[in-house]
Amino acid sequence: MKRKHAKKPSDHVKIAKERIKELFKQAEDATQTYANRYVALARKISMKYKVKFTPVQKKKFCKHCHVHFRQGENCRVRTRDGKLVYFCMGCEKYMRFPTLKKNSKKQ
Ligand SMILES: [Zn+2]
Repeated sequence: MKRKHAKKPSDHVKIAKERIKELFKQAEDATQTYANRYVALARKISMKYKVKFTPVQKKKFCKHCHVHFRQGENCRVRTRDGKLVYFCMGCEKYMRFPTLKKNSKKQ
């Protein structure tokens, strides 16, 4: 006999994406301690359900120490050679993001 209300794996991914989105939204208004906790939870969900963070979400926390970023408070953002460079003041490491799109070659 089939279980009627069993959720499909595709539903899990959908729910996981929603929860991650919601956690990042809440982290914006929360205190630093809670924001870090929300990042930790979002990371756990993404790893469990193999959901990737969106490019915007990736820029919200440090990939080294997983601290939630607040620009000007615990991270510094600069542009350098067509890349966005995030500097984490907690662990003093850098994160680099390309600003150019993949298939648009300038030169
Ligand atoms: Zn860091």
